Amino acid sequence: MKPVIFLVAVAFLLVLGDAKSFDRRCVLLDSSDASSENHKLVRDIFRELIEINTSSKFGSTKAAEAMAVRLKSAGFPASDIQVIGPDALHKNLVFRFHGTGKLKPVLFICHLDVVEALRTDWSVDPFTFLEKDGYFYGRGTTDVKNDDASLVVNLIRLKKEGYIPNRDIIITLTADEEAGNANGVNWLITNHRDLIDADFCINPDGGGGDLKNGKPVDLGIQTSEKIYYTYTLEVKNKGGHSSLPVKENAIYRLAAGLTRLANYDFPVRLNETTRNLFEKIASGESGQVKSDILTILKIPSDTAAARRIQASSAYIPVSSHPGLESIQAITIPKTTAIITAI
Ligand SMILES: [Zn+2]
Repeated sequence: MKPVIFLVAVAFLLVLGDAKSFDRRCVLLDSSDASSENHKLVRDIFRELIEINTSSKFGSTKAAEAMAVRLKSAGFPASDIQVIGPDALHKNLVFRFHGTGKLKPVLFICHLDVVEALRTDWSVDPFTFLEKDGYFYGRGTTDVKNDDASLVVNLIRLKKEGYIPNRDIIITLTADEEAGNANGVNWLITNHRDLIDADFCINPDGGGGDLKNGKPVDLGIQTSEKIYYTYTLEVKNKGGHSSLPVKENAIYRLAAGLTRLANYDFPVRLNETTRNLFEKIASGESGQVKSDILTILKIPSDTAAARRIQASSAYIPVSSHPGLESIQAITIPKTTAIITAI
């Protein structure tokens, strides 16, 4: 287990570092890797992935094939690299790095696709890799092409270093995690379970590392997935004739209800995971954010503190990694409203 965790940590830090302290961080982690060859490679693969539009409409095949080419040029046999999927556009990459076989394989899953990004909504081209003022811009820079690139480069690096793990390391880079009907993980489980069967699975898309003033401070682990719930709101009233509109009608009542909902603050509820998270991150915070976190830990019903954390902190709703940032769409939970006027 340990080498795997180390691998993940290196993987994150290779990509998460800002340009200025890139070398120092990697030397800090692995002094045998003082050359910048791996850094150049990870940056190049990262750029290549960002510049391939992998939103569901365009599919992941091009990116999967590009990564297959990278692995083949690093000397991995073609028989260990599969580009497969339900249709021509939505293929997945499955790659096996052979170990001694002493233990059952470990599986890493990481998605290749991104949420659609329109040039008109962005201040820069979302599919042109850009580094500016210590930040990377481009669709997928934090979700999750940074980790795709890290996985590929780390496996190439391990091969170069002659490392033989005590278990196979399987990497799958998949289609349609964000949207679309070709969910790669589902498809592989259903159609090629043999290729991905493993002792356990690591998904770098959940959790992740944070740096503070250039120093790694944490490596978060996600214990479950937050999901959305779809509500159907139905409003009825006695209705009437459209030539005689009345204030008391179903549409306005529903609108008023939605406004009440928008103004309502749901109570904060902490579970074992979130309590633990806040307890840990409080020590790294200061000022108002720290005080609000401590308040929430003691009095979860303090909505003012919760609102302040939500407005000012990088922890909610998304975790932000210093040195690596992108403009990401906020996903709004699906809410269906049916307006029934009788
Ligand atoms: Zn993701």
